[in-house]
Parts: sequence; C-alpha cells; structure tokens
Amino acid sequence: WFSVSLKPVSSDATKPQYLMHFHDLSETKKTDKVRSDFIANASHELRTPLASLMGFIETLAGPARNDEVARDRFLKIMQDQAGRMSRLIDDLLTLSRFETAWGQSSFEEVELKAVLTHVTNALSPMVSQTGSTIKLSFAGGLDEALKLRGNRDEIIQLFENLIENAIKYGKDNGQVNVDVSEDAAGQNFIVEVRDDGPGISEEHLPRLVERFYRVDVDTSRGKQGTGLGLAIVKHIIQRHKGRLNVKSKLGQGTSFFVALPKIQSK
Ligand code: ADP
Repeated sequence: WFSVSLKPVSSDATKPQYLMHFHDLSETKKTDKVRSDFIANASHELRTPLASLMGFIETLAGPARNDEVARDRFLKIMQDQAGRMSRLIDDLLTLSRFETAWGQSSFEEVELKAVLTHVTNALSPMVSQTGSTIKLSFAGGLDEALKLRGNRDEIIQLFENLIENAIKYGKDNGQVNVDVSEDAAGQNFIVEVRDDGPGISEEHLPRLVERFYRVDVDTSRGKQGTGLGLAIVKHIIQRHKGRLNVKSKLGQGTSFFVALPKIQSK
C-alpha cells in the first residue's frame, strides 16, 4: 500500500517539474490491524467471565434462589470471575499506559539492586503462600555499580511480572533464583530469573510474549493470569533498548534473561 503525493520543485511555469513522493502505508495498515485484533481479543477475554457472571446471576435470581448450598458455591465462582475481570482490566490499562507513554515518561538513573530488593519484598506474601524461596545474587563486586537509565516504575513492573511468574508457574516449595551479572563486553546488565518448575515446551517459547497467549490453560493448575504479563515485559524492555531471552526444558525449569544497557562510568 502506497500513497503518492506531488510536490512542485520548479517555479518555471514553462518547465514544470514535480517530485513524486511515495508513502509506504503498509506499516500503518499493520499497526491498525494489530490494534483492531487487540480490541477484538480484549473484548473476547472480558466477555467470557462476564457471560459466566450473567449466567450465575440469572440462576441465583431464578431456580437457585432458595438453595443455600448452590448459592454459596455460585457466589464463590462469581467472585473468581469478577476477580479475573478486574485483573484483565488492570493489565489492559498497564499495557495501554506504557504504549501511550512511549517516549514521554521520564527516564532517570535507576538502581537495579534497590529495584530488585523492592520487588522481592513485595512478593513475599506470595512466596509464603507457595512455600517457595527467592534468592537474589550478584556476580562478584557488581551490586555497588548497578545503575541504568530508565523509568523506575516500569523496571519494577518488568521484574515483578517475571519473578511473579517464576513463583506462580514454578513448583510449590520451589526455588527462584535472580542472578545479576554483566555481558562479556560490559555493555549490559543481565538479570536471569530462574525457576525449577515444570518448564515450557519449545513450540510455545516464541509465542510467550504475544498478548493473551497462555500455555495449556487447563494444566496450569488453575493459575490465575491474563496472558498479558509477558507482553508488558516485552514492551518495557523494548522501551529501554534491552533484550529478552528465554530458555526452558520440560521438567527442568525455565530461565528468563533480561539484558539492559548499563550506564557507563566515565
Ligand atoms: P499470565 O498472566 O498467564 O501469567 P504471561 O504473559 O505472564 O501471562 O505468561 C504467558 C504464559 O507463559 C503463562 O500463562 C504460562 O503458561 C507461561 N509461563 C510464563 N512464565 C512461566 C514460567 N516461569 N514457567 C512456566 N510457564 C510460564
């Protein structure tokens, strides 16, 4: 898809000359398509719990009105469905906030150690629920010099999503390791978030960062999620000019690697 425009380049009326501009519209079209797919998917994801809620409301207002046992059971399901809608809306808002803030939100010096400590502390209630342990470690002498340029809230969100997944999809009483090192050239920090859970089979790996993509929802032991967490992670990393890699083997756990440019000391 192209649009064409003509621009006069000569003021000599006897020899008019024009420059023809071709504008490639395929990128715009692609963005439009991504956006409309996204709206369709988001509506579908919201509609599912909503339909279930409406069904239960109808049942409770009608046939189950005087059935105490059914009422308690249905109310519990309704609470779960409402919770799911609420998480979806939170994640959708986070994603759209990061997309619209593109290039606008302020970048500052962020201390990686403080961020990771904050995140692991914030996740301690979840950790005590699953009986897992989080271990944060730094390669020799690194923790003092750990500064990067970025948006602190986004960096927090990025590691919160990855470490929360490691706890959620890792095994009960499992071990989550967060290891910080730097690449051979000393250009980037590498943060590895590793769990010893069931792992992810290879065919799913390239699709994990797609919006709403979830691996085998039935066997994820009823774990709550929206499929947006890693899409948010991908966005934040792109904005910070970093990279995301994942390595996983069934039965042997999963590692996510985040590379972020470090501030070079002068
Ligand atoms: P969700 O909200 O479902 O957690 P994410 O985008 O964060 O969405 O993750 C997408 C899917 O990737 C998850 O539903 C899960 O199936 C899989 N996944 C993510 N992290 C892990 C992990 N550490 N171990 C196993 N599977 C994982």
